[in-house]
Amino acid sequence: MRVGSGFDLHRLAVGRRLVLGGVELPWDMGLVGHSDADVICHALIDALCGAAGIGDIGTLFPDDDPKYKDVRSLDLLREVADHCRRAKWAVENVDVTLLAQVPRLAPYREAIRNNLAGVLGIDPGAVGLKATTTDHVGPLGNGEALAAQAVVLLREVP
Ligand code: MG
Repeated sequence: MRVGSGFDLHRLAVGRRLVLGGVELPWDMGLVGHSDADVICHALIDALCGAAGIGDIGTLFPDDDPKYKDVRSLDLLREVADHCRRAKWAVENVDVTLLAQVPRLAPYREAIRNNLAGVLGIDPGAVGLKATTTDHVGPLGNGEALAAQAVVLLREVP
């Protein structure tokens, strides 16, 4: 077994789309980034990279590469999960925490879990997804940014 952890944060701005776990949430603000700035997928990618020992999201998908401009991060997550599988690492389970004052995650939780399970090749039951506010404290608490942290467990496939 191998464990990995990941963290990501992106700034919120008016006029950007808000994409979390590949699901677009209807909101008047979104995350700023070279890609779709999907913090959930980015944290999971880094967790997978850490567990598999294959660098990090910045080395795999440089944010100055035009190829990744506005790219769907769920597709990048699928790419990394496929890479792990080829290296004989199967995903056992993942657990994600979204740090956000707003919006509420609950209405979109199942859609996001299903998306993540689909690209990771695991049962939705093996995808943990929680959200917490930061009690209005700091840049996450006052709506300047959203962040996510993730833990993954990989199992060596014989
Ligand atoms: Mg990121």
